[in-house]
Order: sequence, then C-alpha cells, then structure tokens
Amino acid sequence: MTSRRTRDRLINRLVDSGIEDQRVLEVIRQMPRHLFIDEALSHKAYEDTALPIGYNQTISQPYTVAKMTETLLDGGELNRVLEIGTGSGYQTAVLSCLVKKIFSVERIQPLQEKARARIKRLKMHNVQFKHADGGFGWPEKGPFDGIICAAAPEEIPPELFEQMAVGGRLIIPVGGKAQELRLVIRQSETEYTQSVLEEAKFVPMLSGSIK
Ligand code: SAH
Repeated sequence: MTSRRTRDRLINRLVDSGIEDQRVLEVIRQMPRHLFIDEALSHKAYEDTALPIGYNQTISQPYTVAKMTETLLDGGELNRVLEIGTGSGYQTAVLSCLVKKIFSVERIQPLQEKARARIKRLKMHNVQFKHADGGFGWPEKGPFDGIICAAAPEEIPPELFEQMAVGGRLIIPVGGKAQELRLVIRQSETEYTQSVLEEAKFVPMLSGSIK
C-alpha cells in the first residue's frame, strides 16, 4: 500500500506546477497509479515521471495527464471523449471519473488488452476500447466533445478536426523532435482556433496497428 503522504506529495507537486482544477487533483490523488505499471517499478508510481510500460512506450507523467485533463474540462461538461493512445490506461481511468463516456484507441494490441483488464478491475464501466490506428479517430462514435491524444503526429490528421463536435476541444502534441502541446477548439461548423499550451515531449504517433 502506498502511504497517504506519498500521494499527497505528488498532488503538492502538481499544484506547484500550476494544476488548479480540484476535481482533477482529487481524482489523481485517489487513482492507484501503481496498478498501471510493472510491479518492479511500483516504488516509482507516485513520482511525477513517465515510466516504461513495454513496447517502447511509457505511462504518461502525472503532470501531463493533469494538464490535458484540466484543459479538456475547461470547456464545460463532456459527454463523449475520444482518447488516442490508451497505453497503460492511466489517463483513461482518470477520464473515466470525470466524463460520461470514453472511447479509447490503441495501436498495440497487448497494451490495449492489459489496459482493458485494469479498467475492468477498477469497475469502470464507461469506457469502450478499440485496437486500431487512432490517427483516423473513431468515426462511428463521433462527434466528440473532447479528443485527447497521447502520441505526437507531425501534423494534426484531418479526421480529428472532422470528428470534433462544435464547441469541442482537441488536445494534442504536434511535431517531431521539437513538439508543442496544442489546444484546438471547434468554434463553428467551419471555424477552428488553435493555441499552444506548452512545449511537449510525447512518443510519436505511428501509423498502422500491431497484434
Ligand atoms: N496516456 C497513456 C500514454 C501512453 S504512451 C498512459 O498514461 O499510459 C502513448 C500511446 O500511444 C502508446 O501506447 C502508443 O502505442 C500509442 N499510439 C501511438 N500511435 C498511435 C496511433 N496511431 N493510434 C493509436 N495509438 C497510438
């Protein structure tokens, strides 16, 4: 069991880094992050760092999850959210506590299966998973009030713009070696605004899917 103090320390660090949304901080405080990584790394579970989850991928840094979730929630109530890059399922689990329905796409099947088992174990029932290349979004389930992307494309795929609801938000890292985390808001049927939130360092968005 992780001590209350260890988790509180993480929350204090997130607050110091500028996270303000109390709902997000509380969900992260309660979330058993150690269940989303290998047992050998569990002593590091409540540090504010990304950690390897196999297949050359990482569980996101808690700060990154907090920042993306906070930015998403800033737009008001969210019914349908698309997540691209399920990975360990940690961001999925945080979202599960804060939005109505999540549709999560992962291109590496074994990662997706593990994430699905964790979400089931935590008795979270508002998540649907898909094994596919998330660069195409999940058109059958859209439009989405929010899209959160955990892997960086060189350019934002047009499908993601198309699958945003009017008023919806897309939070996505963009670039290669140098990346920036961007917020896109669909202001109307035809109009989108984009702003840069901060510098970013995500794994690249890769095409195709792996069994
Ligand atoms: N938020 C996740 C981050 C996982 S890392 C976590 O905390 O665990 C990013 C994930 O994006 C990896 O699992 C990677 O396989 C996945 N990914 C990369 N390109 C993708 C694509 N085109 N479609 C779906 N998933 C993709």
